[in-house]
Amino acid sequence: MSYDPQNIFAKILRGDAPCIKVCESEHTLAFMDVMPQSEGHVLVVPKEAAANIHDVSDEALAACMRTVKRVAAAVREALKPEGMLIAQFNGAAAGQTVEHIHVHIIPRWSDVPLKAHGRERADDARLEALAQRIRAALQAE
Ligand code: AMP
Repeated sequence: MSYDPQNIFAKILRGDAPCIKVCESEHTLAFMDVMPQSEGHVLVVPKEAAANIHDVSDEALAACMRTVKRVAAAVREALKPEGMLIAQFNGAAAGQTVEHIHVHIIPRWSDVPLKAHGRERADDARLEALAQRIRAALQAE
């Protein structure tokens, strides 16, 4: 798949579009999903310009998964979910809507149904409050 530098995550990585940041490293960025499937839904992206798992370098993917593990631990500490769904989609047929590789961290509670994928825009103040709690857990590591 060719990489479109105008995709929304490329714009976020360049600073051309806003995001509610959770953490940033040399090779990765984690931010709140604006249409969350549950409270505390975070996305992690490598900074490398790659559309999907078939294009990304081993190094960028490894860096991304290190951040996924770290952020998942912070989400767990901050929000105390009963479980956690970690997902990554490749191609429209698999449900991918943004063509810059990303990993979903979706905390789950057994009595709370999963919301539809990418449908309902959340309130920014609510997302920021959740991000603050996750950032605090990262700082307390
Ligand atoms: P996927 O369908 O796996 O490509 O997931 C894309 C995800 O990005 C969806 O969960 C969307 O809710 C989310 N999303 C789309 N635009 C933005 C944005 N500007 N900031 C944060 N999340 C976004």
